[in-house]
Amino acid sequence: MMELVKPVLLFKGCPKCRGDVSITHDVWGDYWHCLQCGYIPQDVTEIAAASPEKSAA
Ligand SMILES: [Zn+2]
Repeated sequence: MMELVKPVLLFKGCPKCRGDVSITHDVWGDYWHCLQCGYIPQDVTEIAAASPEKSAA
């Protein structure tokens, strides 16, 4: 068994609502979408830019 477990959920990764962003897989391939507001980032880097570690209080 060589199957790797990839991270499929990014907590507070949504740049719009700070909701949890999850990987979705369909005929279009894999893409991220927000579980809270349904926002679909065009690029995962957009999620990285919204990293809560960077956000100032
Ligand atoms: Zn959201």
